[in-house]
Amino acid sequence: MKKLLILGSTGSIGINTLELVRTFRDEFEIAGLTVNNNIDLLEKQINEFNPKAVAVKNRLKAAELKNRIGNRCDVMEGEKGLIEITKRDNYDILVTALVGFAGLAPTIEAIKLKKRIALANKETLVVAGEIIIGLCDKYNAELIPVDSEHSAIFQCLIGESKKEIQKLILTASGGPFLNKSKSELENVTIAEALNHPNWKMGNKITIDSATMMNKGLEVIEAFWLFDLPKEGIEVIVHPQSIIHSMVEFKDGSIKAQLSMPDMKLPILYALSFPKRYTFSEVQTDFKKIEQFTFFEPDFDKFVCLKLAYNVIKAGGVAACILNAANEIAVEKFLNGLIKFTKIPELIEDALNGIPNHSGANLETIFEIDRKTRDFVNKKFN
Ligand code: MG
Repeated sequence: MKKLLILGSTGSIGINTLELVRTFRDEFEIAGLTVNNNIDLLEKQINEFNPKAVAVKNRLKAAELKNRIGNRCDVMEGEKGLIEITKRDNYDILVTALVGFAGLAPTIEAIKLKKRIALANKETLVVAGEIIIGLCDKYNAELIPVDSEHSAIFQCLIGESKKEIQKLILTASGGPFLNKSKSELENVTIAEALNHPNWKMGNKITIDSATMMNKGLEVIEAFWLFDLPKEGIEVIVHPQSIIHSMVEFKDGSIKAQLSMPDMKLPILYALSFPKRYTFSEVQTDFKKIEQFTFFEPDFDKFVCLKLAYNVIKAGGVAACILNAANEIAVEKFLNGLIKFTKIPELIEDALNGIPNHSGANLETIFEIDRKTRDFVNKKFN
């Protein structure tokens, strides 16, 4: 039995992971779960999966949960609780499905304990890729991507040598605004931006998909995971989201990984690797797929994607600035405070206004993250 600690158990990835645990009762059990606020769903999950410990970020909600469940399991609270539960050495795999920068600190604790990290939180690698990869090497921790594109590339690379890769081809759905013009983007609503054509996901990543920042973050994630120059990472729009990504080798041959879009497959692969478990829930019937189409992404319309390539080139802490500014900008958009097209403008302002520097350590990453959030927030005071 493999024991899982799921950070973010009431989000989309967390819920899908628990469905898999339900399907594979003989393979997996739950050591711990964490949530920000949703203790109603967490209570149901505790009843069903009997974790030894849970962590709730919101302290008031943590106290309420303690009252409800008594001493059925340990309840930790606050940001500290997230670190404490990760430091408990009672699990085999950390499923990190937190949203944003919050994923970084607990992931580092799990790496130090040499755990397998099933990484669904791409921001961890975006803000601190060099440090995280270095720590994984040092502690011999396994980092298995859950992001569907990176899972696809990871699977295509089994049995291959990195030296023989020509390029990685990341596919993108193009999001809900693929067919809107640049000027039409000015007045899109929150509801339109949240209406993703292919994937059901949390709000933050859905907005990131609409701006194509999600793909930008994934280019950065791929840069760190697969150790290629940015020229070696290409994005192609594939609206059907059935090819999850591809690898082209130096002989011109291309490998791809395909399936109907369902996050259960990349999650299951990260949990079962190097094995594959029998699973029939997601079936791909090519007779029912009318067409496969591909387009070049429009960098002029989706400025966020361009900014992501720029920060790889800039190096230093630029990706950390981009990520923090994006998190705040998305929050402002979701709160109705800014237009959709203001998101890349706020990010560009932050990249221009906050000095970049090289040689960052974890402390400076946290400092730059805080500084960038303050910088963007100040515009709204
Ligand atoms: Mg993805």
